[in-house]
Amino acid sequence: MNIAVIGTGYVGLVTGTCFAETGVNVVCVDIDKKKVAMLRNGEVPIYEPGLDALLERNLDKNRISFTTSLQKAIKDCDAVFIAVGTPPDEDGSADLKYVLGVAREIGQHMEDYKVIITKSTVPVGTSYKVKAAVEEELVQRGVRIPFDVASNPEFLKEGSAVDDFLKPDRIVVGIESKRAEKVMRRLYKPFLMNGHPLLFMDIFSSEMTKYAANSMLATKISFMNDIANLCELVGANVDLVRKGIGSDSRIGNKFIYPGTGYGGSCFPKDVQALVRTADEYGHSLEVLKAVEAVNYRQKTTLVEKIKKHFGNDLKGKHFGLWGLAFKPKTDDMREAPSLVIIEELKALGATIRAYDPVAMHEAERILGDSIEYAKDEYDVAIDADALIVVTEWSEFRMPNFRILEKLMNERTIFDGRNIYDPEEIEEIGFNYYSIGRAAVT
Ligand code: NAD
Repeated sequence: MNIAVIGTGYVGLVTGTCFAETGVNVVCVDIDKKKVAMLRNGEVPIYEPGLDALLERNLDKNRISFTTSLQKAIKDCDAVFIAVGTPPDEDGSADLKYVLGVAREIGQHMEDYKVIITKSTVPVGTSYKVKAAVEEELVQRGVRIPFDVASNPEFLKEGSAVDDFLKPDRIVVGIESKRAEKVMRRLYKPFLMNGHPLLFMDIFSSEMTKYAANSMLATKISFMNDIANLCELVGANVDLVRKGIGSDSRIGNKFIYPGTGYGGSCFPKDVQALVRTADEYGHSLEVLKAVEAVNYRQKTTLVEKIKKHFGNDLKGKHFGLWGLAFKPKTDDMREAPSLVIIEELKALGATIRAYDPVAMHEAERILGDSIEYAKDEYDVAIDADALIVVTEWSEFRMPNFRILEKLMNERTIFDGRNIYDPEEIEEIGFNYYSIGRAAVT
């Protein structure tokens, strides 16, 4: 089988490479010439564990190639996956200009039957907009070429994207024809070895499933953050509360860890987009509006603790920051809590020196020289008035506190991920502030 994948970001590149791994011939397209040149050389422009080895193997076998020409890529393919970005518009709704732009381009160049699959996260109804855009171009050309549209939302997680794609919990496909179902069934058959389901449904339900899933996950996080904040006020320990509720199988113990709020390219934008969609239909999603508001507040919770400890004027204060990416095992900093924390601390006059195991290049691209960049986790601590843990990379979990205390001005840690045990920290004589647990001072 031959497929084309349009967009080689986190989703497109993983999709293309994993399909190639099953023996499918894949042509990936991106408008970013630099990216395409890198990928042709086997260089992966993002940090994603396992992806470079998989790409190299499939390049060697000539099962995957990269081009900037959509026309060439779709020439002989049975299916085209649209995996370009859908960033939030100014009002929070998903900006569809890239998806629909690609749809028009497909309509301008396709010569025979194809299934055109929307893999990007798109509001309900978008696959039909894709269909209309393709049809319009075919009419313009004065040709009649059969095609089907399908919706196939992606559930991979950055940091474990390859594994998630190769061994998915489920695959959701929205279709409106048996012919498209047959193509999708063939393509996904190799990924069903672990017995997890391939769920066919109508296109509206498939598009909605993606937003409902991300919104449910974001709700769990905001709910737990809100409970954590209350735990602090009433003198409860959120770690114990989490274990207490997580052992109820109806609740489950996953995704109920408090922290500095969710970030990344998906939860913030998808929650916002679903709220806007509902508003358009005259239905107010009150729970999700609260989820958003709580998350916004949570991103500043460490700054509030810092102000309580040092006062509102942070001029002359210098902080070391561990973790810039929105979560471990990725270099993605989109909507990362670190960005809000850095901005607020700088506005109060503080200086910051930061370290992240893989997101340093991305940080320099986004933040320029507004902060200092450290060469490792201990370099961050030199002359720091406090250390702020923002991302729970595993290398931050067992630091040598004796080295830290020698390097730092003051023995104080603000932990936005609860990665240390307050009792152990008390024994070694640090001030310690975490989320939803009593402070150690
Ligand atoms: P990304 O920003 O990393 O990549 C998008 C790519 O599309 C870029 O390389 C860009 O150059 C390319 N592009 C834009 N217009 C193009 C065009 N006309 N032709 C060819 N290429 C074009 O985005 P991403 O994180 O991979 O997300 C893609 C979609 O998948 C989004 O809708 C997102 O919500 C969804 N999604 C993302 C994740 C994730 O974890 N990142 C998970 C599930 C779903």
